[in-house]
Amino acid sequence: MPRLAVLGFPVAHSRSPAMQNAALAALGLDDEWSYEAIEVAPEDFAAKVGEMAAAGFAGANVTIPHKEAALALAAVPSEAAAQIGAANTLTFAPTDLLGPDVEGGIAADNTDAGGLLAALGTTPLDARALVLGAGGAARAAVWALAGEGARVEVWNRTPSRADALCAELGGKPVAGPDQAAYDLIVNTTAVGLGGEDPFEELPLDAAGFVPGQLVVDMVYGEGSRPLLGAAEMAGATVIDGLEILVRQGALSLEIWTGREAPLDVMRAAIA
Ligand code: NAP
Repeated sequence: MPRLAVLGFPVAHSRSPAMQNAALAALGLDDEWSYEAIEVAPEDFAAKVGEMAAAGFAGANVTIPHKEAALALAAVPSEAAAQIGAANTLTFAPTDLLGPDVEGGIAADNTDAGGLLAALGTTPLDARALVLGAGGAARAAVWALAGEGARVEVWNRTPSRADALCAELGGKPVAGPDQAAYDLIVNTTAVGLGGEDPFEELPLDAAGFVPGQLVVDMVYGEGSRPLLGAAEMAGATVIDGLEILVRQGALSLEIWTGREAPLDVMRAAIA
């Protein structure tokens, strides 16, 4: 019975168990596999992860605040996880996957990056992209978009963090972005999560979007409506944080099970 989990602090709000258990059922794996939420305080994280393989876990998603700590525990980090500096997917892989040198070791990946690219549905090659934010979600977005050949600019409330992110991962810091000039705008800030007005907190104008733009908000559900509603009104295509959640979860599920994830079932489970 391989077990799976999401580790966070807090984690009770996580939609991943509903989404992943629905996917396991649709794949006919729910007799064997299960997915649960486990709250782990930061000081207990390393010990908890260390005992999971023996407790029957095949893998785990990792969310706030453990993504950097998860990478640090990995014997085999993916290129994405290593360069982004954070992991959201751990695999307690058998020796045949990891090789004899890392028996009992942990593989780490970052599917936030691939999840964003998958959600775009089109290559960002040569697209002029604005990333708002310079936290963990921004690091994954900049790494993913720059790696695919987008021309990335990064705005952050605290400009020095945008400078540091760009120096490390690519992209160009921007203080006063020209909203209409971008093919792609990705909000990776937490603005909207607590009901903040994005047009007060971010360098965007509700009337400033243009048709043909692709606008992504990492914030889930209702919190993304003010930003994405305005973008839609202007004729932009929009993608909200739930779709990003589905896509990162789908990639994690595929890593663990080797099966193609049922995207529509996962979307319906968290709608
Ligand atoms: P984080 O590392 O704490 O970074 C937070 C970012 O938001 C920073 O750039 C911060 O700017 C900015 N910010 C916060 N409040 C702001 C405000 N009032 N005005 C302007 N900027 C503000 O967090 P994170 O892990 O990157 O997560 C960011 C968001 O993405 C969260 O809403 C999270 O739920 C979401 N997320 C979604 C998914 C998904 O699957 N959909 C995955 C990962 C994250 P400063 O540097 O100036 O503080």
